[in-house]
Amino acid sequence: MTCSEFDLIRHFFAGQCIQRVDVPLGIGDDAALLAPPPGRLLAVSVDTLIAGVHFPLDTAARAVGYKSLAVNLSDLAAMGAEPAWVTLALSLPEPDEAWLTGFAQGFFDLASTHSVQLVGGDTTRGPLSITVQVTGFVSQEQALLRNGAQPGDGVFLTGTVGDAGLGLRLYQQPSDASDASNDATMHLVHRLEFPTPRVAAGLALRGCASSAIDVSDGLAADLGHVLTASGVGADIHVDQLPLSSAYRLLASKNDWQTAVSTGDDYELCFTLPAGQETAVLAGLDCTCTRIGEISADSGLRWRDADGQQLALDNTGFDHFTFGKPQ
Ligand code: ADP
Ligand code: MG
Repeated sequence: MTCSEFDLIRHFFAGQCIQRVDVPLGIGDDAALLAPPPGRLLAVSVDTLIAGVHFPLDTAARAVGYKSLAVNLSDLAAMGAEPAWVTLALSLPEPDEAWLTGFAQGFFDLASTHSVQLVGGDTTRGPLSITVQVTGFVSQEQALLRNGAQPGDGVFLTGTVGDAGLGLRLYQQPSDASDASNDATMHLVHRLEFPTPRVAAGLALRGCASSAIDVSDGLAADLGHVLTASGVGADIHVDQLPLSSAYRLLASKNDWQTAVSTGDDYELCFTLPAGQETAVLAGLDCTCTRIGEISADSGLRWRDADGQQLALDNTGFDHFTFGKPQ
């Protein structure tokens, strides 16, 4: 396809169906003009996905488009913010029409689900890389932060963990398999490529959860950030971790370490003061599991069903720590 940068933007990105009333001027001028709601704060988050680093080079374009927005919506969910606007900076090796069509489909399907409007961006030629910035609204009193966990609070997880990490491993090392394990593998790879940002759960936790984070780098690493920010510790019961049936089928027996040390699940991990569990969990639109409790003793301790402490060999993905497996 030969087209100018402007044709490409018009064709693939300017004709979206979401038109919000708080966007007086969207794509097309030098900057968008936006009307934030009075009395609320803007929650802003940005994430870059680089081909070959954040997703395998042969990932379907629709999955790349979906996930580039999903990971950002997940950050807003973890703040208890209501998503509204998004910008998109695309670096493309060439204007590949089929790829752009798939990318836009994945991106706008999810944008429509959450009534998020693409209000601007930038398009350049270069190695495939996607930077998405989202903006949402939250009131100062209700924002979910990492630093409020208190001794005695319960630790909770939405959905299941470990699916994306195991899915990536199976995607990279396919094995000949039975029909049952093929279905399970497909489920895990789908979780890797199309994670569900827990936007409604984040909104429901506003004013209730004492802390929250989304699990992007693995439960061990991300819960560790909450503990550090809050100045507390936690005991997590590995037999209570929510694991999908696909994970249970395809992971090695009793493999809890993959589930807590691999990332990309985009579930919410949050803490709740004792006594609030029943009411809060009833208000969530997804499954949610209590996995442990916060303590005054610093550190993150993994425990088996008998309460014995277990050692974790690796803790999660960090771009700037060399020698760690991704
Ligand atoms: P400028 O040169 O003034 O920065 P651009 O030529 O980069 O403007 O972009 C023209 C318009 O198209 C702007 O409104 C910009 O926000 C929008 N735009 C550019 N690339 C994208 C994209 N990938 N997605 C959405 N909007 C885009
Ligand atoms: Mg520009």
